Amino acid sequence: MTGSLTIAGLGPGSDRQVTPEVTAAIAAATDIVGYIPYVARIVPRPGLMLHPSDNRVEMDRARAALQMTAQGRHVVIVSSGDPGVFAMAAAVFEALEDAPQWQALDIRVLPGITAMLAAAARAGAPLGHDFCCINLSDNLKPWEVIETRLRHAARADFAMAFYNPRSASRPDTFARTLDVLRAECGPDRLITFARAVSTPEEAIATTTLAEARPDMADMRTVVILGNSATRRVGPWVYTPRRAG
Ligand code: SAH
Repeated sequence: MTGSLTIAGLGPGSDRQVTPEVTAAIAAATDIVGYIPYVARIVPRPGLMLHPSDNRVEMDRARAALQMTAQGRHVVIVSSGDPGVFAMAAAVFEALEDAPQWQALDIRVLPGITAMLAAAARAGAPLGHDFCCINLSDNLKPWEVIETRLRHAARADFAMAFYNPRSASRPDTFARTLDVLRAECGPDRLITFARAVSTPEEAIATTTLAEARPDMADMRTVVILGNSATRRVGPWVYTPRRAG
């Protein structure tokens, strides 16, 4: 019996933003693996085993999914947004590096709508020109790396999207981020806070760096900073497609 492992993105929250390809993979699965709130989005049915786990056990989860696949199960690992953006796809390949016996397994990564794209669409087109995307969590990299990337991206005049901006375990890094950005980009730069995009709790607010406060972000917020040309047009925010 040949198993399969699909690493699938569920999009930012709304079932209307799950791709048909991901829906089909879930319908064909025998096992669903993932962080508790993501597995909670899967409708139970006979013959489908749900394996929710805590978000601190990503490597254990990846290895467990590979093990089940090797036993012939059809496993889907669910991530929010896109599975390749600060999520489980890289964790699975990291686990594969240490496990040659699993490298010939049938593995597929199915994309999903990542938070910054869902948020940008709600705001207008703040990522309409060159941009970069930075994870502000310092769990897996030191703050110095984050700060260096922020300064280089600001000097290159990228618009930026920030994931994992603020959590209870590290309340200060987002305040430091705003300080660095104010120093590099000045007070008038537009910044959009997009919380719980595509869910009933969705809230989108755009302000300037001068007015931005750390408590405008939490772990359900993706933050988008404009480049030097980003501007408002009516209720929208957009970044023109030419530089300068
Ligand atoms: N793989 C996910 C990101 C996981 S990191 C993706 O592609 O979207 C988790 C971070 O994603 C959160 O801290 C937040 O910054 C962002 N995020 C995820 N879903 C979101 C949503 N519905 N609205 C706003 N931000 C979201």
